Amino acid sequence: MIEITDKSKCCGCGACSQICQFDAIKMQEDEEGFLYPTVDENKCTECELCLKICPINNDNPKNYISKCYAAINKDSKIVSLSTSAGMFSIFAEHILKLKGVVFGGVFDEYFNVKHSYAENMDDLDKIRRSKYVQSYIGGSYKQAKTFLDNGRYVLFTGTPCQIAGLKNYLQKGYENLYVLDIICHSVPSPRVWKMFLEQNFEISKIEKINFRDKSFGWDKSYLKFYFSDGTVCPLHKKSGKVENLSYYKGFFSMLYSRPSCHDCKFRGAKKYSDMTMADFWGIKNVIPEMYDTKGVSVLTLNSEKGYEIFKEIKNKIIYKETNIKYLELYNPCLVKSLSPHPKRQDFFDSYQTEPLNDLINRLLHKPFLKRCFNFLKNRLRK
Ligand SMILES: Cc1cc2nc3c(=O)[nH]c(=O)nc-3n(C[C@H](O)[C@H](O)[C@H](O)COP(=O)(O)OP(=O)(O)OC[C@H]3O[C@@H](n4cnc5c(N)ncnc54)[C@H](O)[C@@H]3O)c2cc1C
Ligand code: SF4
Ligand code: SF4
Ligand code: SF4
Repeated sequence: MIEITDKSKCCGCGACSQICQFDAIKMQEDEEGFLYPTVDENKCTECELCLKICPINNDNPKNYISKCYAAINKDSKIVSLSTSAGMFSIFAEHILKLKGVVFGGVFDEYFNVKHSYAENMDDLDKIRRSKYVQSYIGGSYKQAKTFLDNGRYVLFTGTPCQIAGLKNYLQKGYENLYVLDIICHSVPSPRVWKMFLEQNFEISKIEKINFRDKSFGWDKSYLKFYFSDGTVCPLHKKSGKVENLSYYKGFFSMLYSRPSCHDCKFRGAKKYSDMTMADFWGIKNVIPEMYDTKGVSVLTLNSEKGYEIFKEIKNKIIYKETNIKYLELYNPCLVKSLSPHPKRQDFFDSYQTEPLNDLINRLLHKPFLKRCFNFLKNRLRK
């Protein structure tokens, strides 16, 4: 049976807990706010199925990235509503037209992030846009299997480890399943996100959160809150709320990401997914004529099914082929994991007692001379 002795060896995909027929595995939060499986030995029959399907123990993807594109959805309204350039929406709308079901990460009513599904265009908007928090997978593999067994088309989207978990959970291929993952930096602790919300806002008054508002452009996007009284709280450098930028700073500095993300087994050109989407950072240098202030996506095709669905949607996007080496250069998370911040442990030692903004700003504060040195180093590089 599953036993977690090294936390970097569990991505929290929940496949083990969903596959156990004896309901012996519960996902429980640890002291950092991440979920890990715990086994009830009284219920466990030692059948070992959970071990067999765990994607960390059995990481054997069959697909390879074989085509890479810079791509933009032709519907500029959708691009504005999306994080990058609306690749998710293109595939999702196609599946909905086939009367299928689309799975992905949504906010619940308290702005926790979980996996859910959409069967119509109205519900699709909840899945649209990145939420930079680990999404709670719940029973979504089971739900997807039921739809698949009933002959419905399913598009399942998420992080590469969630896609690996789904594929291993299903244990067989389905003609009617399409899987789309992202290039994944890391996922921060859901508990840290919740504490950030509670300490800075009245959650009941939040109507909407956009992690990547594009008012200043896609490559300068920032976290924005909308409240029920019509006011907004934009968290960008000029907003006068600099202390509240803490959550973003901590995320990008790897201060509170999941341990498995620092040694992620799901990077590289080998893939479980049919297609992969991401931001095309570096587009100005690679294909300057495709640069768009609203956003440019990376789209890769990784399987026959990826090619098949691409043929159906390609008239709805502007695209240009590129080489994987540019993705590796400008989006290094495709191939390599980032180390934890050296003060990660200091963060988790104090985060329950010290106000979050103060703690993050204190730990990430760089002395004046170091900032001058980094500034000069960056200028010289350009
Ligand atoms: C945690 C995280 C880390 C990322 N890291 C990188 C990175 O390092 N480099 C990069 O280029 N791109 C990264 N992305 C992907 C990027 O932010 C966009 O999501 C992607 O380019 C798709 O944009 P879009 O415009 O096509 O669609 P959008 O509509 O903006 O994307 C929505 C998609 O994101 C999925 N999603 C949203 N939140 C979550 C979540 N918490 N967990 C799982 N899936 C989620 C939805 O299911 C849906 O498929 C990351 C996304 C997330 C959620
Ligand atoms: S070994 Fe079998 S019964 Fe025990 S927890 Fe794993 S799947 Fe469940
Ligand atoms: S990686 Fe997934 S399947 Fe493996 S132990 Fe962790 S939650 Fe279970
Ligand atoms: S970095 Fe790897 S382990 Fe972490 S969430 Fe992304 S795919 Fe999963």
